[in-house]
Order: sequence, then C-alpha cells, then structure tokens
Amino acid sequence: MVERRKIPARLRKEVAKRAKYRCEYCQSPEHFSLDTFTIDHILPLSEAGGDDLENLAFACHNCNNRKQNTISIMDPETEVRIPLFNPRIDRWYDHFRWSDDTLTLEP
Ligand SMILES: [Zn+2]
Repeated sequence: MVERRKIPARLRKEVAKRAKYRCEYCQSPEHFSLDTFTIDHILPLSEAGGDDLENLAFACHNCNNRKQNTISIMDPETEVRIPLFNPRIDRWYDHFRWSDDTLTLEP
C-alpha cells in the first residue's frame, strides 16, 4: 500500500496556476465545477511517482477518478497497449478535441 501524502498548499497552488485553473486532462475550468479540483500524480505513487511539480497535474474529479493509478491502456482498435496522455510530454490538441456541440470530449 502506498502512503498518500498531502500536497502542500503552496505546491497545489503552483500546479493549479500552471494549469491556468483548468483540468489538464479535459481542459474544464475549475470555476465551472462544484468541487475543488484535485492534484493528480501523472506517474502514480504506486509506480514510484513523486510529489515533484513535474509529476503533478491539476485534474477534475472525473478525470482523476477515471485515471486512478493507470499509466497505459489497451487501444481497442489496435489492441496495442498505449500510454495515457501525459500533460508534461504530450500536447493536448494532438490528442483531444471537443465535439462541435462542445458536450463531448473526443480522442
Ligand atoms: Zn478533467
């Protein structure tokens, strides 16, 4: 079992500010959410990820709950294991787009 550590408020604010207070996975702004966003470990603690700024991402509850401790998934079309989007390495617009009605995030 990995011990969860509380992210210091100063570091949390730095992560949120860098993300412009938007979820780094779906780009939803925190101010439209009823909940305060979370801090995600891009490389999970269970995979020896740390609390350093580079490994932390600002994330809405929905994205963080779906991601959990996952770092890769099986692509259903190719059946090849692929890494999940990494906001420190990948460019968001290369991986996602909002549908024309802006209601659905599409890969
Ligand atoms: Zn999100």
